[in-house]
Amino acid sequence: MSMQQYEFWFVVGSQFLYGPEVLDTVAQRAAQMTQELNASGHLPCKLVYKVTAKTNQEIADVVREANYDKRCAGIVTWCHTFSPSKMWINGFAALQKPYCHFATQYNREIPNEEIDMDFMNLNQAAHGDREHGFIASRLRMPRKVIAGYWQDEEVQERLGRWMRTAVGVAFSRELKVMRFGDNMREVAVTEGDKVEVQTKLGWQVNTWPVGKLVETMNAVTGEEIDALMETYRQEYDFATDDLETVRYQAREEIAMKKMMDTEGCKAFSNTFQDLYGMRQLPGLASQHLMAQGYGYGGEGDWKVSAMTSIMKAMSEGQTGGTAFMEDYTYHLEKGNEYSLGAHMLEVCPSVAADRPRIEVHPLGIGDREDPARLVFEGHEGDAIVVSLIDMGGRLRLICQDIHCVKPIMDMPNLPVARVMWQAMPNLTTGVECWITAGGAHHTVLSYDVTAEQMRDWARIMDIEFVHITKDTTVESLEHDLFLSDLAWKLK
Ligand code: MN
Repeated sequence: MSMQQYEFWFVVGSQFLYGPEVLDTVAQRAAQMTQELNASGHLPCKLVYKVTAKTNQEIADVVREANYDKRCAGIVTWCHTFSPSKMWINGFAALQKPYCHFATQYNREIPNEEIDMDFMNLNQAAHGDREHGFIASRLRMPRKVIAGYWQDEEVQERLGRWMRTAVGVAFSRELKVMRFGDNMREVAVTEGDKVEVQTKLGWQVNTWPVGKLVETMNAVTGEEIDALMETYRQEYDFATDDLETVRYQAREEIAMKKMMDTEGCKAFSNTFQDLYGMRQLPGLASQHLMAQGYGYGGEGDWKVSAMTSIMKAMSEGQTGGTAFMEDYTYHLEKGNEYSLGAHMLEVCPSVAADRPRIEVHPLGIGDREDPARLVFEGHEGDAIVVSLIDMGGRLRLICQDIHCVKPIMDMPNLPVARVMWQAMPNLTTGVECWITAGGAHHTVLSYDVTAEQMRDWARIMDIEFVHITKDTTVESLEHDLFLSDLAWKLK
C-alpha cells in the first residue's frame, strides 16, 4: 500500500455527564477539525473522524475495528472534554496500532468576555488530556504526545511526520526481504537474529538461490531491456559507449525486480562473494531499484536493506532522498574534518545533487567483468545516518545527526557515487560515540526522515534507540548505554 492509501482514525474522548448539546458540539468540532487538518496539505494520509467516545464499549469497539482494518495505520486521540480514563483501559490494552495523543484545544485563545463555567466545561482539554495521558503512562503504552494548537503549521507538520512514522510501522510489519547469497564471510555487524526481527519488527527475511536469479536473467527479453534502457536515458546521462555492459545491468535489474515482485519483497541483499553465473556485480541495477523504493544492503546486509526500504516508505513523496550508505574514509585536516561515504557501487541516486552519470569502470572486488554504475555527488543539507544492530537478546537502533556538504574536492578518479558530511557533534567525538554504541559501517542516510521519527518508530517497535546529536558527549553516552543495557536485560 502507498502512503495515500493509509488513513488515521480520530477518536475524541468524552462522557455523558455534559448532556447531548455539549456532545453534539464536540462531535461537530471534531469533524470540522478533521476537515481542516486534511485540507492543510501537511498530513500525508487522510484523517478520519470516527467517534466521540463516551463508554468503555465504544472505545473497545473502535480499537477492535482499527486493529483489523488494513487501511488504518494508527489512531489519534484527543479529549475536548473530560473523559474518565478507566473507560479506555480495555480498548488500550487491546490496541495493536500506533497511537498519538494530540493534546490540542478547539479555541486558540481564552475569550475574556465570553468565558464562564459553561465555556470552561466545554473547553477543558487542559484537564481532559491530563487524565487521558495518565492511563497511557500507567499502561506503559508506546504513544506519541503532540501538544499545540491544531491550526498551527508546525503542529500539523509534526502530526504529518508522525503519520509517516506510523506508515513505516505498517510497512515494517509486512516487509519481506529477499536475500541473494549469505552474509559476507566472517563479518559480524551485518549478522542478526532473523527470528528476533520477525517477532519484533515483522520482517520476513528469507533466501533465494543465485542460480534462480541467473535463470530469471536468462529469460529476460531484448524488448524488456530496450524499454529499461529508454528509462535510463530519460533519467541519467550516459558517460560510456559500452552499451552491452549497461544492457547487462538492465537484465539484472529486470530479473531481480521480477523475483521480488513475484514474492512480494520490497528489499534485497546480495554479496560479491556469491555471484555464481553472473558477469557483473549489480551496480546500476541495484541503484535504480533503490530509486524505485526497494531497499538494498551490500555484503548480505539484510538489516540495512530492510531499514532502507522502511525509511523510503516513510518518506514517500518527499524529495531529499534516502540511500544505502557506507562510511568509507575520513578527511582529517584540522578544522575542516569530513566523512566520505560511498559504496563499491550501490548508492541510491535519490540523494544526488545533479543528474547522475552512467559509467563503466573495473571493479577489483568480486572477480567479475567491469560493471556499469551511477556516479554522482550527494547534495548539501541536514540529514541522519541510521544503523540497526543486534546486541544479542535485543536490537539497538543508532541514529546520528549529520550535515552533508558539497564534496570539498572533485575526486575525478573515484568511480563511484559519493556523499560528504560532518557528523555531530564533530568528526572525532562523533566517531567515538558511534563506535562506542556499536554502530555499523553500513547505514541508511536520509535527508527526509528525522531523528524524532526514528525515535518514535523504535519506541513503537519496542527496540532500543540511541541518538548522537550536537550535544552528545562520550561520557553522557557511555552512561546512557550502561543504564540502557541494564534496563533492556530486565525488560
Ligand atoms: Mn559494504
